[in-house]
Amino acid sequence: MLAENVIAYLEKNRSALLQKLQTFLKIPSVSTDSSYEESIRDAAAFLKNYIAEIGFDEVEVVGTDGHPLVYASYNQAGADAPTVLFYGHYDVQPVDPLEEWKSDPFEPEIRGNRLYARGASDDKGQVFMHLAVFEAFMQTEGALPMNVKLCIEGEEEIGSENLYDLLQAKKEQFAADFVVISDSGMVAENQPTILYGLKGFTGIEIKVKGPDQDLHSGLYGGAVRNPIMALTHILASMKNEDEVITVDGFYDGVKDITAHEKALIADVKGENYTETTGVKETTSEAGYDAKEHTMARPTLEINGMYGGYQGEGTKTIIPAEATAKITCRLVPGQNPAHIQQLLKRHIDQVAPSGVDVEVKLEKLSSKAYMVEPDHPLIEQAAACYERAFQKKTVFVRMGGSIPVVEWLDAIYDVPVILLGFGTPEDRLHSPNESFPLDSFDKGMQTLVYYWKEITK
Ligand SMILES: [Zn+2]
Repeated sequence: MLAENVIAYLEKNRSALLQKLQTFLKIPSVSTDSSYEESIRDAAAFLKNYIAEIGFDEVEVVGTDGHPLVYASYNQAGADAPTVLFYGHYDVQPVDPLEEWKSDPFEPEIRGNRLYARGASDDKGQVFMHLAVFEAFMQTEGALPMNVKLCIEGEEEIGSENLYDLLQAKKEQFAADFVVISDSGMVAENQPTILYGLKGFTGIEIKVKGPDQDLHSGLYGGAVRNPIMALTHILASMKNEDEVITVDGFYDGVKDITAHEKALIADVKGENYTETTGVKETTSEAGYDAKEHTMARPTLEINGMYGGYQGEGTKTIIPAEATAKITCRLVPGQNPAHIQQLLKRHIDQVAPSGVDVEVKLEKLSSKAYMVEPDHPLIEQAAACYERAFQKKTVFVRMGGSIPVVEWLDAIYDVPVILLGFGTPEDRLHSPNESFPLDSFDKGMQTLVYYWKEITK
């Protein structure tokens, strides 16, 4: 059977499907606020009913200590067919400030070529697209071309508090050959984009302690080490003027960007950093341009620094202490906990005498994730995007992190393929969230081609 038959079904039933998506979007499944608990349950129930209606073998609302997760499986494709785990989330961000919305966040409205509602892009809209594609396959071919497991959680916007433990506990049940997630975006509307790498993350806090209280600078200046001065000395030693991080061992295990990747990064139009940030010129690590540095090289940033007198006028003191917060974005080959140890060792080595330096290792950290851009599942996805959008696919790595990707990678060690259809104009988490109908139509086509392609 042809992909075109499945696509014809989606086209023929477009308005009914859009109606159904709007019914889903009307449920205010805000996860942060306990007053929406009933709506959270309603959204999970909506999914359960729809998935059962599509013809999955098994569908279950799985309770957690927080909001429930919807699990489903389809296993009629046989042992020879691949099994894919689809991850998404049905919870949404709060809507305030409500007065800035042009239409009610939970009364979906189509204006121009966009559907406006909270969750239209992140992530109910994109979850719905997958379900609609499964419906189209079942209605036209009577079967799905591969085995499918669905994991649609209700706590993504509050840090997926119960997901990791649940995936660990039900490891066998959720196991698959690869994972697909549609909870990200393309670099521009109608610009097919493969996101094949995410950075990891780690952080520390440095506290420099000097005298046991602020001191008079006339009486003690010159005799007592100034903690802020000591802190700036430590901070300045961590990076040189070529934006190279000078912490010993920091780059150990980091593979250089391949020529193939350099070419892929060059293909991304990317933003004009001086224009969007207001800086006069960009910086980048010696040997790399700014785009290569943000996408594919590790970074170290001082996020905050405080100590001493911050009020109006002058106050002639030697402050008792000074603090700085530092985070690093990591690439494959770097272990977050090891990087924290390297930073600590570096600080201990360069810290001047006369002050006590405490280094606090932040708990929140994650490893980088990357699928090789020439992995067959990635190349096939790129080709399917191209076919649906009629435009060459660009490949990007992102400076940010998506915790669930790291967890799935850590638990299952299988490729996680990110098929995002959002756009930079979607206003995720903000008033007037929307999703382009072009992404809705062509995104579903991409998925139809993809399921056909990988099971050919
Ligand atoms: Zn999301």
